This record gives sequence, C-alpha cells and structure tokens, in this order.
Amino acid sequence: MLCMPIKNANGAIQGVSLLVNKIDGSAFNKNDEDMFEAFAIFCGMGIHNTKMYEKVCRAVAKQRVALETLSYHATAPSEEAQRIKKLPVPTSNELGLLKFSFSELRMTEDETLLAAMRMFLDLDLLNKFRINYETMCRWLLSVRKNYRNVTYHNWRHAFTVAQTMFAIIKSGGMKNVLTDIEVMCLMVACLSHDLDHRGTNNNFQVMIESPLAQLYSTSTMEHHHFDQCIMILNSKGNEIFMNLNPEEYTNAIRLLEHAILATDLAVYFKSRGEFFHIVEEQKCEWNEDDQRELLRGMLMTACDISAISKPWDVQKEIAKLVFGEFFEQGDLERQQLNKVPDDMMNREKRDLLPKMQVGFVDAICLPCYESLTKVNDKMKPLLDMCQSNRNNWQHLATISTQQMEEKESIKGSAEEKDIDESETSLSTGKSQGAPPRKK
Ligand SMILES: [Zn+2]
Repeated sequence: MLCMPIKNANGAIQGVSLLVNKIDGSAFNKNDEDMFEAFAIFCGMGIHNTKMYEKVCRAVAKQRVALETLSYHATAPSEEAQRIKKLPVPTSNELGLLKFSFSELRMTEDETLLAAMRMFLDLDLLNKFRINYETMCRWLLSVRKNYRNVTYHNWRHAFTVAQTMFAIIKSGGMKNVLTDIEVMCLMVACLSHDLDHRGTNNNFQVMIESPLAQLYSTSTMEHHHFDQCIMILNSKGNEIFMNLNPEEYTNAIRLLEHAILATDLAVYFKSRGEFFHIVEEQKCEWNEDDQRELLRGMLMTACDISAISKPWDVQKEIAKLVFGEFFEQGDLERQQLNKVPDDMMNREKRDLLPKMQVGFVDAICLPCYESLTKVNDKMKPLLDMCQSNRNNWQHLATISTQQMEEKESIKGSAEEKDIDESETSLSTGKSQGAPPRKK
C-alpha cells in the first residue's frame, strides 16, 4: 500500500490518496513514491480549483440577484413616469435653454425634468431613435433618482452639464459637426456622468481603500458612473436605446463610455495637448475618428466645468456648493484618516478660496474654452464669462490677501464673514449649503 496526503495551497491536508497492490505484484519503490507525490500535488490543485470555481459561481449568482434587486429599486416606478408624461413641456425659449447663461438654481425638481425632456425633443432624438415617450420620462426619472443628495455632485449638476451641451449643440455651432448618435450619446452621457457620486473624489476612494478603488485603479468614480448609466439603460421600462440595431448599440455604448470617462480631469490633462495642437495648427479634420473623439472629450469637460462660465451671481452660489462638498471630504479625511486635508479641502483655509478659483480657471477652464472658441466662435460666450469670473475672483483674492496681512499685523481675531456680506471669502458647509429653491 502507498499513501500520500493531498494538501491545499496552505499545506493543510485536504484528503488522502491511496494505491493498493501493484499489477505486477512487486513492492512499491522510491520511484513510485516520487511519482505518486507529484500526482497528489496535482490532485490538491484540482480540488482547490474546483472549490474556487464553485465560489466564483456562487458569487456571480449572488451578484446577479443583487443587481436584479438593485435595478428594480433603483429605477423610477412606472406610475411616476405616467404622471410626468401628462405634464406640458415648456419651450426652450420659455426655459432659456439656448443660452449659455442659463441657471437651474430657481427651478423646481419637476421643471428640471421637463427641461431635460425639452432638450431631447428639440434635438429630435425621440424621433430619430424611435424612443417611446413614456420610456424617456421613466429613464429621466431613474437617472435623477440615482443621484445622491450630496452638496454639489447631484442631479442639479448633471442637469446643468446637459444644458450646456444642449446650448453648445444648438447655439455653439456644433450641430453640423456632430452626428445624431453622437448628439444622443453626449446628452445621455452628460445626464449620467456623475451617477451615484458620493461627494468624494477618486483620491479619497484610494485613500480609504474603497471597493470601488479595488475595482478600478484609474478614473475610479467615472467607471462607476458609467456602470450605473448602463445599469439604468438596461433596466426594464428605461431602455431608451432599445430600437438601435446591434451595430448602432455597440457604437453608442462605446461613445457613452468615452464621454463619461472624459469627465475625469486626469483624462482631460492627458488628451488636451493633442487637441490644442490640432486646433492651434488649424488641422481640424472632423471626419477623422481620432479627432472627433478628442473633440467630444473636450466638449464633455467644457460642460462639466461650465459653472465657471455662468453669470457672477450664479458662479458664486455654485462655488459655495463645490467647496462645501470639498470641505466635507476634508472633514472626513480628518475623522477617518487622521490626516490634514489639502488646502482645497481644508475648511480652515477657506480664505484661499478666491485664489484657488483663479488657479482652477487658469490651469483648466481658460485653456479649454480658448481652444473651443477657436473651433467655433459661437462658443465665445463661455470664454468671455469665464474670463470675467476670473477677474472677479482675482479681485477677491487681492482683497483677501490684504485682509490677511492686516489681520497678521494687528494680530486680532477677525470674525468670519460670508461672501454675501463681505464679498471677500466664501463661507461654505452644509448649514448654509444649497440656495433656496421652489419645492
Ligand atoms: Zn460632473
């Protein structure tokens, strides 16, 4: 008899293999023992793989169940879609949707939804892609439902980003450059680009080692926004892409993925050099796929940061929300990671806010809008407003620096002032969070 233990990867015994009586009747020798040992190792690996495979199968099944449940609860009920379906949709002019200076700050929730519908109607997308009106209502409601109630990266932000895209297409001269499917995907991508945002950035996901960061090491949140977008598009009653043929559908998903990932500023920094180059050298060939892709990415960034190109009153309000969310992340970093947050996320450094805004405009916004203005002069209002807001922030930064110096010199403790009172710094935080809105 020859016996051999079967071990797992950790060396623990899983079982025993046994040989009894060789056919030729001779005794087992050293050679048999070595061969049998090798055999037992393979047995161990086989058992290990089988167990792993069973585990994976169970995990996949569990994930499917979770996804089914999630997609049921995540999508809007059909009754809600039927209610919205009956409401009249105001015109673009009534809503001011064609203007780059548009603001949603005083709109009701229903109004934002109807305005989103108006944009799809005016772009003739329901007709062109044979989208059922009720399905469109339900998809919009589901998208809105999947934004969390965070200070800045919420449905209102997504809606505003989509409105800027609409204005760029209709008033910014991009209608003739973009194809129907591109227009459709850019609009869907704008509304979906921050789905399920948690009010914390990619870096934070990495720092707290969130499951999302394990799943995606780069563009962590953007990959998640795209996944959520697909989840909604695939949910029953929300399938606005249902009537695309398989080829169109594959193309649409590719366009969506690219557009949503393009909203990661790290991606913008990586691709903008090439875009600026072709624009600068007047080498724009919009019939070339690579160049169109760069253009679509740049348009997504232009829309995502378009709060900076709103009238000063609106820009101030939104900057409050943006920094409110940043400071909340800073607070979490202090609590959970025992870390002093970067200046941008640090409540105690809020006097630097105007200066940080100037830095943001110079490094990110102005180059983007300057290049798009070169693509089409009709997008110049974005550049002009951005420039004008930069001047306002610069003015506040100068006053703020002077005040800090005075503070230093008299060594007194000055009380914090809200921008509405002092116009020099922004107070932010949940308590003063969102501006008043109609219910
Ligand atoms: Zn965004």
